[in-house]
Amino acid sequence: MTIMKSEILSRSTEKTTLPVVLDDVEQAAARIVGHVARTPLVRSHALSELTGQPVYLKLETRQPIGAFKLRGAMNAILSLDDATRKRGLVTASTGNHGRAVAYAARELGLSATICMSSLVPANKIEAIRALGAEIIIVGASQDNAQEEVERLVHSRGLTRIPPFDHVDIVAGQGTIGLEIAEELHDLAAVLIPLSGGGLAGGIALAIKALKPGARIIGISMERGAAMHAAIAAGRPVPVQEEETLADSLGGGIGLKNRVTFALCSDLLDGIVLLTEGEIAAGIRHAAREEGEIVEGAGAVGIAAILAGKVRVSGPTAIIVSGGNIDPEIHSDIVGGAAA
Ligand SMILES: *Cc1c(COP(=O)(O)O)cnc(C)c1O
Repeated sequence: MTIMKSEILSRSTEKTTLPVVLDDVEQAAARIVGHVARTPLVRSHALSELTGQPVYLKLETRQPIGAFKLRGAMNAILSLDDATRKRGLVTASTGNHGRAVAYAARELGLSATICMSSLVPANKIEAIRALGAEIIIVGASQDNAQEEVERLVHSRGLTRIPPFDHVDIVAGQGTIGLEIAEELHDLAAVLIPLSGGGLAGGIALAIKALKPGARIIGISMERGAAMHAAIAAGRPVPVQEEETLADSLGGGIGLKNRVTFALCSDLLDGIVLLTEGEIAAGIRHAAREEGEIVEGAGAVGIAAILAGKVRVSGPTAIIVSGGNIDPEIHSDIVGGAAA
């Protein structure tokens, strides 16, 4: 289950101008410095040994919220004018993006409202409440929560901070690419967890500009890989969301996607899809061999190498995108009980 470049290229033959450029990413880096961590890029002894090539882990687990989403959210919020920003921010994400918006708002002295459905588990609600955000519980689906966001944008003048499909979000995530390009001069490939494509699109555009020879591989789960389905179809298509260990990679790319679909279809050299067992093996390897607590979405790059689904030739960077996993699920997986 791998789409390779020839297939992607045949679907985007016209020369298009990309919606985000290197200059946007460089400006984002200057804007967010001091507000987000410059994360470590560490050599993985185990994976370098296994592949016979230098393999590095970019540890976005070390961001203050435990995931890279702070980069994009911080850039988007700092890009707003003062009056807009002070009216308050709103989003419907209960995962890492919601945490990022809540954290950034607190850091900047702004108010954030996170809308969620009554199905969101208590531990997720508490994590966001602890960051000082206002929580509105409405309806029994993510769609209901999203409708509430739209209502608050109109009634209270709040500003919606989208999770991936926005130039400022993509530019913020792309700052990871700048950091890697600075540190790995002979970079050959980057493996990037792929969902809505803000992370992969941003990093890809920075790397393709600075290290044109490097290959960019997106990695998703077999269960509900929305960007993979969209690229295969040549346009965004509805995808059934399924439960997966890589829960931060769930959800669609938006049928009216404006930014990330174009970026990913133009810039990715391939997409690899993983089974649940392969993702579990990635989480387990991260804990046992690398000493890192990594969530399913964050472990897919490691998992793709362990599964033999990417051929490593030359210095390779793996984006370890986040570490927010339920401790019980984590210990079951690391102990070998789950999946
Ligand atoms: C959001 C997220 C991703 C995917 O990012 P996209 O920009 O939606 O592709 C990957 N890993 C983690 C931990 C995330 O929170």
